Amino acid sequence: MENRHFAALFVLALGAADLAAPALADEVNLYSARKEDLIKPLLDRFTEKTGITVNLITGEADVLLKRIVAEGKNTPADLLLTTDVGRLYRAKSEGVTAPIGSAALVAAVPAQYRDPADHWVGLSLRARPIMYVKGKVDPAELSTYEALVDAKWQGRICIRSSSNVYNQSMMAAMIAADGAEAAENWAKGLVANFARPPEGGDRDQIKAAAAGQCDIAIANTYYLAGMVGSEEAAQREAAAKVAVFWPNQDGRGTHVNVSGAALVKASRHPDAARALLEFLANDESQAWYAEANGEYPVRPGIGLSPVLAEWGTFKADELNLERLGELNAEALMIMDRAGWK
Ligand code: FE
Repeated sequence: MENRHFAALFVLALGAADLAAPALADEVNLYSARKEDLIKPLLDRFTEKTGITVNLITGEADVLLKRIVAEGKNTPADLLLTTDVGRLYRAKSEGVTAPIGSAALVAAVPAQYRDPADHWVGLSLRARPIMYVKGKVDPAELSTYEALVDAKWQGRICIRSSSNVYNQSMMAAMIAADGAEAAENWAKGLVANFARPPEGGDRDQIKAAAAGQCDIAIANTYYLAGMVGSEEAAQREAAAKVAVFWPNQDGRGTHVNVSGAALVKASRHPDAARALLEFLANDESQAWYAEANGEYPVRPGIGLSPVLAEWGTFKADELNLERLGELNAEALMIMDRAGWK
């Protein structure tokens, strides 16, 4: 500590104020695309336990990434926290991330939810199953994503636009599982069964199903969890009309994605950043974070909230999520050719 202090004084004495400030071990700068109240209590708990301050900057995912790229080696960011592996992959592709280097994280988080090159780690799991309107669809009629192209579903499926990264990642998983040609045929078949041209977000698809516009919606489960726990009676009533079906349970498993964090290459507090990631992966944090966000823990053996527990357990696709990033461009082209607006 003393030496570092003297070194800093020396630098200032030279007037070299534009040199990088010496690393302070007691803070970490987090650029976060998650709503503040869904992460802040956890960060406060981390500070309480470790004495490390977390400076939280919240913003839209793509804006935060652009900012890190623009700030270059002068970025104050140590960690980028965002949703969907497609975005974590983009950060890595921009060259602004670096290997995390934590043996504890490697041991804690299943390999499929970590970057093989160690630049990002998943911190919560999000599932994108099939949702159906009770009484209109017999769950015995459902089986796989692939089977949704059957003519019996014509005009009955609601799903958002292909411009959304969730669908791009789902499409990428389809390419990984079935090959590009089958995936393109699937996309065409799905589009042919759309109840309406894509509009709105995931929650809007669930609402449309509840309102009778379609019988099936594909959406991330945390949106349904949010509706179940909503303060608005209309949202709770809509949610009550819909049930979750876990597709592909006899095969590859249900499509999942993560929210996660990448270590910024220019980080000046990599030790503090690693400590925060390790904290976010511990039992207590995993349970809290998953419940607060209506998501699933990335690690097995952590208890689920009552809402999630009611939907039952499921087999998740074990594809390494990095593949979803690698196949994103191809997924986009396929969706475009299939006429998925
Ligand atoms: Fe979302």
